[in-house]
Amino acid sequence: MIKAVKGFKDILPDETPYWQFLEEKARKLLKSFGFREIRIPVLEKLELFDRGIGSTTDIVEKEMYTFKDKGGNLVAMRPEATASIARAYIENALHLKDPLGKYYFIGPMFRYERPQAGRLRQFNQINVEVFGTKSSSLDAEVMALLHNIADEVGISDGVTLEVNHIGCKKCRPIYRQILINYLNQNREALCEDCRKRLERNPLRALDCKRQNCRRVALSAPKLTDHLCDECRSYFEEVIEYLQIYQVPHVINPLIVRGLDYYTGVVFELTTTELGAQSAVAAGGRYDYLVEELGGPSVPGIGFAIGEERAVAMLKNRKKLTPPAPLFFFAVLGDAAKKKCIPIVLELRKRGVYTEMEHENRSLKSQMRKANRLKARYAVMVGEDELEKGRAVVRDMEKKEQFDIELSSEAFLKLAEEEVR
Ligand SMILES: [Zn+2]
Ligand SMILES: [Zn+2]
Repeated sequence: MIKAVKGFKDILPDETPYWQFLEEKARKLLKSFGFREIRIPVLEKLELFDRGIGSTTDIVEKEMYTFKDKGGNLVAMRPEATASIARAYIENALHLKDPLGKYYFIGPMFRYERPQAGRLRQFNQINVEVFGTKSSSLDAEVMALLHNIADEVGISDGVTLEVNHIGCKKCRPIYRQILINYLNQNREALCEDCRKRLERNPLRALDCKRQNCRRVALSAPKLTDHLCDECRSYFEEVIEYLQIYQVPHVINPLIVRGLDYYTGVVFELTTTELGAQSAVAAGGRYDYLVEELGGPSVPGIGFAIGEERAVAMLKNRKKLTPPAPLFFFAVLGDAAKKKCIPIVLELRKRGVYTEMEHENRSLKSQMRKANRLKARYAVMVGEDELEKGRAVVRDMEKKEQFDIELSSEAFLKLAEEEVR
């Protein structure tokens, strides 16, 4: 037997209703917030993620699926979507068409991470990006969208929106040095990864999950205390707008995000419901990314929702069952089958979920099948019914039986009554 590749998982039909529910709710809100769907390729040139995400990040250093294709090009399977969407934005000159470009993308990402419970190498995200405007009210609006999606899906009671500001090109380097000095003083307590990161990417030490590192991080100098005046007042405005948008939130100075392109406001939607504290969604501002990838100087902000985690939370709250047929046609004999096929077809074309027996089984076994599928009505058609031009209908819920004309109109009428 051939099994799926480690870290890759099937999403089976019993589970897809949860995914559909999540994505439908998200799409509905994205549409009303003015977002349009963009679809990006799985493969990109490796260089894109190297320059976009940053060559010293965990993702680029250790986690990417990279290979040489048959033409000798070094390519990577996208580990996240923002760099790809920025590439598409630049390549297609979308800034000329959409001065405020609001896009979303739903699809799988690929990271070669250590496999552990709940962490997959192919995982799915709902990505949301806005290019073209830097404004505190827009930042709050993007977080409001995230909050509203969580609310609409029904998981907002289990999540916290944590917000931070990680400074700009002016104030971050100053803080960075202050942090390096502090971390050096506490070098002994840090894990090996953090010691290695210390000079190259010290902010990541604030994000380390190891207990000793967390202790060091908690008493570290806070970026929010070292913001320049411009960043500080901008952040205050964002917080004020979050209140106007009625988005519950907390300020957490330890939120830094693991990707180099972030600057300014960053945020995470976290939960304690899935074992250790984890982010269900995360995002932030990336005002230099488009320019760094060779595009115009265009600011941006966005976030990604981890669909696996959102689905896990949804499952804790809601039971979604696969759809059940309205009609199950239990036909006895070929003549009955041939008479019923056009009726079944017409019902299906009109959007009524209808099943029909193809194997010539006994009535008893067909009724069992109707029951198993949770059909609302079992429709029985045998020789007698054919002669009379009527069908015997069993209401499986009320356990009642009646007969109706054997015509698509009669069944459609019954279906309409059901909808009402
Ligand atoms: Zn600043
Ligand atoms: Zn550490």
